Amino acid sequence: MKQSQFELAKPILERLMQHGYEAYFVGGSVRDFIMNRPIHDVDITTNATPDEIESLFEHTIPVGKEHGTINVVWNGENYEVTTFRAEAEYVDHRRPTEVYFVRDLYQDVERRDFTMNAIAMDIQYERIDHFEGERDIEARIIRTVGDANTRFDEDALRILRGLRFKSQLGFTIEDATFEAMAHRMADLEYLSIERIMNELTLLINGAYVAETFPILHSLQLWRYIPYFKDVDVAAMKLNTPLEIESFLAILSYRSNHQAFKPLKLSNARVRTIQTFVSAIQSVQEINTKVQLQQFVYDFGIDVALQINELRETLVNNSIDIPTPVIFNASSIQEIWAQLPIQSRQDLAVDGKLLMQAFQLKGGPWIKDVLRQVERAVIERQVNNQTEAIIEWVKSNVKIS
Ligand code: ATP
Ligand code: MG
Repeated sequence: MKQSQFELAKPILERLMQHGYEAYFVGGSVRDFIMNRPIHDVDITTNATPDEIESLFEHTIPVGKEHGTINVVWNGENYEVTTFRAEAEYVDHRRPTEVYFVRDLYQDVERRDFTMNAIAMDIQYERIDHFEGERDIEARIIRTVGDANTRFDEDALRILRGLRFKSQLGFTIEDATFEAMAHRMADLEYLSIERIMNELTLLINGAYVAETFPILHSLQLWRYIPYFKDVDVAAMKLNTPLEIESFLAILSYRSNHQAFKPLKLSNARVRTIQTFVSAIQSVQEINTKVQLQQFVYDFGIDVALQINELRETLVNNSIDIPTPVIFNASSIQEIWAQLPIQSRQDLAVDGKLLMQAFQLKGGPWIKDVLRQVERAVIERQVNNQTEAIIEWVKSNVKIS
């Protein structure tokens, strides 16, 4: 039952209330609950101050104490409990000069971005909905709390959040909200790339990305984001939700532009993208079963299956992937299972053994020979067996 996550968090609200404070569920969890969507983190808002919250619970983490947020750990789960707060003047279109704590729920929900995100819900599941968020959820409309221009001027991230919610929920952006977005687009330049990428990651993977993506082009979003401003994003076809790594791999392959530095991605993410780029390159060259085998071996089963999942998007973007008759999930799994070796570690020889067998010092030749041996083993020209491999090398490889 969907309610259960709120039920689990209820004791936190009850304890706050027993001590005379107000406490509500708020934000995305309430929105998703009303929409009957899966709920992730349950956020709680209260008029207790951070110090007061800390004094009421045994296990707390001051994750954002100066902004009023304390994590309460309850039965092994983490809950963000945030003091009702309002925001003072904004600077740089991205952060308030200061936040101050208030004792009134209205002021807290008033600073929230969209009406659908500004609904509070008490422990009886009664909603306190100052901005008609429920009406907007029912009509599937994204509308800012208050004047859209002002709200986007304060914090340009809200523009991107609005588009991200459209992509996730399939809602329509209300006219004035949309106009203000279009008008304020250039303010995205004030945002840190990390915050932008967080939202873009969710947006590109949204269930309604196909209808949202063209809107991004018409708003000229890409002009204001590092990396994306240097490539032709609008030329890319996106008909289905993608992981950001797959998206960037296809985009960068198409544009032949792999300078991801401005995106400040983790090294692991960059490596994943680079692997996808080279898999996209290689998959197009597969014409025979042997080549398919080599591909599955080189990239491993996970990447091979992921590339297969991307088929539709790859084809839409003029990238040739072998026909589903030969390249499909079960053929990939079968080939993987039948490979004589699945990685170089499985090979019956290694550099040391080669050096002994040929009485030679280490050098670049080792890598070269191993690569050829690997190939021969995969193609079953030789058994994966030490003696056999050494013999095969003697008669087939010129060691230089
Ligand atoms: P998700 O389901 O993806 O977590 P969410 O709406 O809960 O979506 P969060 O980033 O978790 O988004 O933020 C929690 C709540 O805080 C939002 O629902 C909204 O009320 C408020 N909020 C978050 N970011 C902003 C912002 N930039 N400006 C105003 N309010 C915001
Ligand atoms: Mg949330």
